[in-house]
Amino acid sequence: MTSTKQLPIVALVGQPNVGKSSLLNKIAGGRPAVTSEVAGTTRDRQYIDTSWNGVDFTLVDTAGLSLEAQSELEHNVNKQIDIALAEAEAVILVVDGRLNRNSVEQTTLQKFRKIKKPVILAVNKLESPKLREEKLVEFQSLGIKPLFGVSATSGAGLGDMLDSIAGIIRASSGRLSLEAAPESNLPGIAVSIVGKPNVGKSSILNAILKEERAVVSPIPGTTRTAIDSRIAIGGVDYTFIDTAGLKKKEHRQQQPDIFSGFQTFKSIRRSDVCFLTIDAAEEITKQDQRIAQEIFSQEKGCVILANKIDLYEGDEEKLRDYISLHFPFLWMCPLFFVSGKTGQGLNQALTAIKPIYERRHKTVDNQTLSEFLMKAMQKNSPKLLRDQKKPKVFSLHQTDANPPHFELLVNHPAAISQQFRRFLENSIIKELDFWGTPIVLRLRGKDKT
Ligand code: GDP
Ligand code: GDP
Repeated sequence: MTSTKQLPIVALVGQPNVGKSSLLNKIAGGRPAVTSEVAGTTRDRQYIDTSWNGVDFTLVDTAGLSLEAQSELEHNVNKQIDIALAEAEAVILVVDGRLNRNSVEQTTLQKFRKIKKPVILAVNKLESPKLREEKLVEFQSLGIKPLFGVSATSGAGLGDMLDSIAGIIRASSGRLSLEAAPESNLPGIAVSIVGKPNVGKSSILNAILKEERAVVSPIPGTTRTAIDSRIAIGGVDYTFIDTAGLKKKEHRQQQPDIFSGFQTFKSIRRSDVCFLTIDAAEEITKQDQRIAQEIFSQEKGCVILANKIDLYEGDEEKLRDYISLHFPFLWMCPLFFVSGKTGQGLNQALTAIKPIYERRHKTVDNQTLSEFLMKAMQKNSPKLLRDQKKPKVFSLHQTDANPPHFELLVNHPAAISQQFRRFLENSIIKELDFWGTPIVLRLRGKDKT
């Protein structure tokens, strides 16, 4: 599966405590959902990539995206719907089946009935079949169809609901289903310029587009507001993903901040390589770190751009140290000092993209991996952990590319220390040359007990 393929988004919306988060986790089937703080929200956003009947989609709990401040709680559900409307292929309204139908806000219902996208009503918390029957009749009168009586706790009804979601996605956008989707829906290497507001993302994009005097052809994006740019530099094709209308910023309608978090998330998701942009003349903040974390959790290639270097007057080595200290998990990513104003450093930064893209796509053969593992183990073998079996490491395989995934066959995963796993991960990047991209190393146990 290629990571540049953007999966259709199915959004869960609903009042707090109806069970959105529980549903998402149940559907994830024990896999932990990716949770990360989103700028301006008080709650963690959650999403999972999942698959049902051969249809891949991303399920997002939009609640995390909309809770900006407690005072805005009343508008919460409506905001979720706005986000869902802008971004999702299908929307699931979750309600608490233990309450009565009047518990669902009128404004929410009105809004929901007008949605021109496929909608589903999930009446949750209905473990008992008897209650399920009764409640379905009651909630049917809300007029939102199809509706399903489900339980996030027991899993009851979820299969039928997922069948329906898969059917909807297949029907409404065949191009997005697994079978119909091309390997990647973007030509060339997909790059996004991400960073908090005002770090200079638009300036950088404009500088790149202008300086290269390349053929710039707009590609209609998946949302009405985004237009991606395709450019060729030195025989390499790139698609610069338009993050929330970077280019036509001055004309863009003022978008509420809640969208920018989601836009960033989506742009990263569509990218092969991200330009993580920070302002060299300002302190690094939590918001910068969150965006960096997002790139890391989505396992994307990354180039760090310290922009506005023309305004920075200090020592460059100190700046380099300061930046690596604040993004320790992106230690494998190159850093460039650039200026969107003067164009300084941008050519070098662009040159770094293709090698990262190629590393993400390469596969290392088993022989090389076995030699690598032997050498690594000579340097550092896993220590015996308290109350655990003696650790044994058997072999290392690459299980996937783009992003690169590896599997370490061991006697017992619990017997392997985190330190050893991290050491091996870092060594894979350094010794087998995966610079510029996070990799994932999973442990698989050979012994059953
Ligand atoms: P959210 O705020 O909509 O994301 O709701 P949560 O998923 O956090 O759930 C709110 C509460 O409802 C939690 O205490 C859950 O354990 C409970 N809950 C969620 N789904 C179910 C369900 O299917 N059955 C029952 N009995 N409780 C549920
Ligand atoms: P965005 O919100 O990240 O897209 O940031 P913009 O590209 O709109 O830039 C924010 C402000 O920083 C604008 O006033 C730019 O002119 C300025 N700016 C952007 N890049 C540079 C740079 O490299 N040097 C200087 N001095 N100013 C810059």
